Amino acid sequence: MEKHVQQYVDDFMAQIVAKNPGEKEFHQAVHEVVESLAEYILQNPVLQKMKVLERIAEPERVVMFRVPWLNDKGEIEINKGYRIEMNSAIGPYKGGIRFHSSVNLSILKFLAFEQTFKNSLTTLPMGGGKGGSDFNPKGKSDAEVMRFCQAFMTELSRHIGQFTDVPAGDINVGGREIGYLFGQYKRIRDEYSGVLTGKGLEFGGSLARTEATGYGLCYYTAEAMRVLRNDSFEGKTVVISGSGNVAIFATEKAQALGAKVVTASDSNGYIYDPNGIQLDVVKDIKLGHRGRIKEYAERVPGSEYHEGCKGVWTVPCDIALPCATQNEIDEESAKALVANGCTVVCEGANMPSTPEAIAVYQANNVLYGPAKAANAGGVAVSGLEMSQNSYRLSWTFEEVDGKLKSIMENIVANSLEAAKEYGHEGDLMLGANAAGFVKVANAMVAQGVL
Ligand code: NDP
Repeated sequence: MEKHVQQYVDDFMAQIVAKNPGEKEFHQAVHEVVESLAEYILQNPVLQKMKVLERIAEPERVVMFRVPWLNDKGEIEINKGYRIEMNSAIGPYKGGIRFHSSVNLSILKFLAFEQTFKNSLTTLPMGGGKGGSDFNPKGKSDAEVMRFCQAFMTELSRHIGQFTDVPAGDINVGGREIGYLFGQYKRIRDEYSGVLTGKGLEFGGSLARTEATGYGLCYYTAEAMRVLRNDSFEGKTVVISGSGNVAIFATEKAQALGAKVVTASDSNGYIYDPNGIQLDVVKDIKLGHRGRIKEYAERVPGSEYHEGCKGVWTVPCDIALPCATQNEIDEESAKALVANGCTVVCEGANMPSTPEAIAVYQANNVLYGPAKAANAGGVAVSGLEMSQNSYRLSWTFEEVDGKLKSIMENIVANSLEAAKEYGHEGDLMLGANAAGFVKVANAMVAQGVL
């Protein structure tokens, strides 16, 4: 990187760190984007003058609130609630809600920042947002989860709406939670609208939304491998982390495309099944009774369970699809992947690779598909759910799945085109940042200083 470009990155990051002290995940996400866009911004004085990137890195609005609720013993519990309304240049704020004990402002701001670029990449009219709570649903009864969701929505309902801000699911927010959240919104606002996506099929949900992120990840990976390597999933060994929504449907599609998926994990440990994961067993454990992945090894002969999640990256594979959480692959894990023959890493989770891990991929010619492009399938189908809600009709599974596939293939094409235009042919990370940024930036310049 040239000296004046590096200086721009350093100055920009110094401001971000000073304005957002202690928010390390947010700094990490912004740094990755600034580093790849710096050259382009320096060549475009209008973007500099209009302080477009500075504005994109500052949320339009942050809502933080108290969520008091009653547990089954009748005791009062208090959690923190958040909604980050990051950017509305190209559409209403859009992004998931995460319930996890680790949730804080830094994590939600990094997710909302990434979401702005991701949503732009889908080519659908959606701005960026993210929300959540430090509520941990593990071990809570259905009634407790319902009371929490109702309390959370009681406050959130003031800030969202079908044309303003349309949340969806994320970690620990699936069909059950979206149902409770939707019910409470409808009760409070007396309004039946597509204010949330990921809804049940009976009340406005879209077919293929549940599968969308995992399937989309595989469509993206398959297309990138086809274009850049003249290769496919056929006959490949795949390592997947996580065993939630994204991991399950990534496994399903990778298997359908002819690959052997040999792992699944949760926050306690991972399973290795050399014969290929039996997905019906994983679904029964995770979707059937919210069990732990350890149970798989007790049920499937020939499989092994290992404590700790990091070991999953030492399993030899051709393709790795991280689908659990941020920063799950560090430098050491990336080196282990490469040493064991992995040549493709595409991200189902948000920001699962540390900057050091990405440097290892780049130094070893690994085909690297960054999260904001590779996992955009979920929000893309959320966008299609919004369209169906507006039309008041439902498309078939095949129709939605077909649109998803072409959106993911277009993301690969648009990223590669942008990468080529900016002199970094074949760089899917730079391409995704540039393609996602340009549309938002142009809209912001056109709309004036907001
Ligand atoms: P789920 O809650 O369905 O599943 C999350 C999975 O990841 C679980 O297996 C969970 O294990 C594991 N996990 C969570 N936190 C950790 C941790 N700290 N360490 C190790 N494992 C962990 O969530 P999703 O599948 O929806 O989300 C997974 C990732 O994909 C997230 O990064 C999310 O932001 C991203 N994503 C999701 C989209 C969607 O449509 N759902 C869209 C785009 C991105 P455990 O049960 O032990 O917690």
